[in-house]
Parts: sequence; C-alpha cells; structure tokens
Amino acid sequence: MDRISWDQYFMAQSHLLALRSTCTRLTVGATIVRDKRIIAGGYNGSIAGGEHCTDHGCYVIDHHCVRTIHAEMNALLQCAKFGVPTDGAEIYVTHFPCLQCSKALIQAGIKTVYFATDYKNHPYAVELFQRANVKTEKVELKETVIDFSKIASPPTLTQ
Ligand SMILES: [Zn+2]
Ligand SMILES: [Zn+2]
Repeated sequence: MDRISWDQYFMAQSHLLALRSTCTRLTVGATIVRDKRIIAGGYNGSIAGGEHCTDHGCYVIDHHCVRTIHAEMNALLQCAKFGVPTDGAEIYVTHFPCLQCSKALIQAGIKTVYFATDYKNHPYAVELFQRANVKTEKVELKETVIDFSKIASPPTLTQ
C-alpha cells in the first residue's frame, strides 16, 4: 500500500477546505502546519454569520470581492483567535497568495509557502518573500493520491 506523502496530504487538505468556499470568484483553501501537524485551516468566505456570496452574489469594488476574507487570512486569524503561535510554521495553499495575504504570512512568521497553482503571482509579493527568507515552492496535487475506495470498503474477512 502506498502511503500519501506529507506534502500531498496537507495539499489535499487545502483542496478539501477550498470546497467550503462561499465566494464564487475563487475557491481557495489554506492549511497551516507546524511540525507536520495541522494547526489551522481556512477557506475563502465571509465573516462568521455574514451573508454568503453564493447566496447574494459577490460584493465587488475595484474588481475585488470585499465581502470575502481570504483563505490564508482566515487560517491566520483562527490562530489569533485561539492563541496558536504561527512563528516558524508552514502553509499549504491551493493558489499563490495575493499581495495582502503574502505580507500577512511573512509578518506572522510563516517560513514556507507551498502552493498548488500559480495565480497572478505578484512580483512584489515574490520579492518580499525572498527578502524575508520565506521559501515558496510549488506542490501540485496529484489527484491519484486520494483513493477513498481503498478505505471505504469493509475489510474482507478470511476464515
Ligand atoms: Zn465574493
Ligand atoms: Zn489573499
């Protein structure tokens, strides 16, 4: 039996979270990891209890949906809310972070950003990551790594 790698496992988790996104413009998921353990997760969505873009349409100003809190930001804020340190942690995101999220990740002490898809990679974000010694690495999700049929079927009993 092939074991799933840590990179694929965490990246798969981010893709799973992305399915919870409520902003129709982009479904994004983010998983913050420290010492190979998931400490937080987030997806693109409105504030807790707020209206969803999926129900009301996006609230677009200057080509951006202002209702949405980005996945990376949601994951960081979950850590802030529950007092979980992010210094030295890593993040797995489905898309390359926007400039605002990039700055927040650097400031929160995130040391590595793994992303599955390039997305309007802002040159200034790339520059800031380099200057802050934050590693960015593309980790594409291999869809073949997830095969729930391996575990979904009951074990065959042998007599
Ligand atoms: Zn939206
Ligand atoms: Zn962002």
